[in-house]
Amino acid sequence: MVEHQLRARGIRDERVLRVMGELPREKFIGPVYREEAYEDRPVPIGAGQTISQPYVVALMSEALKVEPHHRVLEIGAGSGYQTAILAKLAKEVFAIERIAELAERASKVLSELGIDNVQLRIGDGTLGWPEQAPFDRILCAAAAPDVPEAWIEQLADNGRIVMPIGGPEMQNLFLITKQGDKITHENLGGVRFVKLIGKQGWEE
Ligand code: SAH
Repeated sequence: MVEHQLRARGIRDERVLRVMGELPREKFIGPVYREEAYEDRPVPIGAGQTISQPYVVALMSEALKVEPHHRVLEIGAGSGYQTAILAKLAKEVFAIERIAELAERASKVLSELGIDNVQLRIGDGTLGWPEQAPFDRILCAAAAPDVPEAWIEQLADNGRIVMPIGGPEMQNLFLITKQGDKITHENLGGVRFVKLIGKQGWEE
């Protein structure tokens, strides 16, 4: 997976490549789809949600430029796979998932892997996590019509957000950076994600 799907397509961040090479992706996927864990496509994780293909996970993780002292907010923890990667790259991860069944399973897998720098809660991540703000980095794996205002407010100076923005069917992956009052958007290309459902996202 690391050589053919990630390195060959231009992923260069050695920390991201190492962490993705070490983490057992199959542990985050239920028994029915487990054999597809390393395939080059999204895989169902239950409750109508999917885990992104490894390349997209790597692309987002690389664009986020996580440093070991960072506090990261993740919205849409799903299976917990991306959460685990962030936990290995950062100091602390604050993850939010709206579907209880997924959040509970993700928590269990994270603790089985001995990952103890994650706080995972069930709720609407479009409002961020004001009690824990500011965050150096914010990553979201569900698509919204625009960046939730709460995330911009809760992002630290020189912070970065990586998330898909667009319509319900097709989106572009964006890197959003904040420097003082200046917010910039960089388009990283077309993607397809499930919807971000919540107060500052799509309606249910
Ligand atoms: N990165 C995940 C993929 C999750 S798919 C993984 O590695 O498995 C996107 C997830 O976002 C879904 O689990 C969905 O339930 C969740 N989601 C959608 N809207 C949300 C919201 N407002 N707050 C928190 N999670 C949300």
